[in-house]
Amino acid sequence: MTEELFRQDAYLTTCDATVLAVNDDGSIILDRTIFYITGGGQPGDSGYLEKQDGSHIDIVTTRKDRKTGALLHLAQDGQDGKVNAGDKVTCHINWETRYKYMRHHTALHLLSVVVPFAVTGGQIGAVESRLDFNIPDPDFDKEGLTEKLMALINQDHAVTMRWITDEEMDAQPELVKTMAVQPPRGSGKVRLVAIGDVDLQPCGGTHVKQTSEIGSVAVTKIENKGKQNRRIRIRFVD
Ligand SMILES: [Zn+2]
Repeated sequence: MTEELFRQDAYLTTCDATVLAVNDDGSIILDRTIFYITGGGQPGDSGYLEKQDGSHIDIVTTRKDRKTGALLHLAQDGQDGKVNAGDKVTCHINWETRYKYMRHHTALHLLSVVVPFAVTGGQIGAVESRLDFNIPDPDFDKEGLTEKLMALINQDHAVTMRWITDEEMDAQPELVKTMAVQPPRGSGKVRLVAIGDVDLQPCGGTHVKQTSEIGSVAVTKIENKGKQNRRIRIRFVD
């Protein structure tokens, strides 16, 4: 099984690893990784593996194998066969993109604070991100939400993590805001992400350490997606 270093420290941009296996489709399994695995609305990381001879294998994305649960690093087409089990590699993620995901991801947590309704879906991007909410009767506009969101960001709250057991999680169902994404189970513990004293929810994604790192964002669209469903989009403001 692969050690998920990005869960403990989202700021790691490189790490040394050993290739455990290369599948028939060319996907690569490592003993440890800093590549975020696609999930919870956050895209998997891209980057490259550097071999000891200095050559690179480009990684286009990373995802979990549905059947085996293995974490798969997907190599660029045509680069199959460049690594073998036992090879030592250095992982490099595309940090510029990942950091944008971290900033957007943390901003979406805060969006769920200023829009206190059940989240039914979401997607994180490097340019734009969105959350879908179940809102019977919306009484807000883009400008008002942007103002509230920026107020929380500018309060520069610390973002911290702690782990609780599955049983403790079951005893606090109100922590789960995202109906579409249940917290990852199976390991016996669930990771909670706290933003100051304004937000606390289970999440396996990558976040910034302080909300000021998010920078300026704006709510750019509130779309009507069905009877009670509202899709709220945010973007960075440069
Ligand atoms: Zn999160």
